[in-house]
Amino acid sequence: MNRLVLASNNAGKLREFSQLFAPLGIELLPQSAFNVSEAEEPHPTFVENALAKARHCARVTGLPSLADDSGLCVAALDGAPGVTSARYAGEPKSDTRNNEKLLASLRGKANRRAHFVCVLALCRHWDDPQPLIAEGEWHGEIIDTPDGTGGFGYDPLFYLPDYSCTSAALDVEEKNRISHRGKALQLLLKRLQVTT
Ligand code: IMP
Repeated sequence: MNRLVLASNNAGKLREFSQLFAPLGIELLPQSAFNVSEAEEPHPTFVENALAKARHCARVTGLPSLADDSGLCVAALDGAPGVTSARYAGEPKSDTRNNEKLLASLRGKANRRAHFVCVLALCRHWDDPQPLIAEGEWHGEIIDTPDGTGGFGYDPLFYLPDYSCTSAALDVEEKNRISHRGKALQLLLKRLQVTT
């Protein structure tokens, strides 16, 4: 496998993933180069949605395809917003409104534990019976006052006790090294090295 299609239209993700796959001699191509339409993400779990996106992309392109699905799970909210993280406060998607809704949902609740999840799915072909799956988690706490200027999404509310700051205050390299996405990717790369 020397070419892999990324089932995403996010330029930042393509750049980040490309750098990490390059040492394995794998070139990453954007799904936009193949006119792949957005896949449905109707499932209640990250792994099902990641797999649906990777399979859809592999079916259209005829090439091995990689997809990710991620979000925030909050203990006191039974894992919400979970797979609906991007659109927690409805359409059009807005990080500001999502964060406001999160704080409103947690008002008066003492348990602030939360974690980010990232699941990566790699299908070698659309009916691959054994896709590679890798999952990463990143644990922290939800604070009431947003802090930090970097990152995106829920980062300004995601406090990391070990670092005494939110994930929005970390620099990009540090975040990529310790985040749910970084962990999932490292795991996937290890599995690829074993199986290729
Ligand atoms: P996606 O999988 O990139 O579409 O991310 C789903 C949603 O989860 C994002 O829109 C964010 O709301 C949230 N999310 C995922 N990863 C992060 C992160 O690293 N920081 C903050 N929010 C995140």
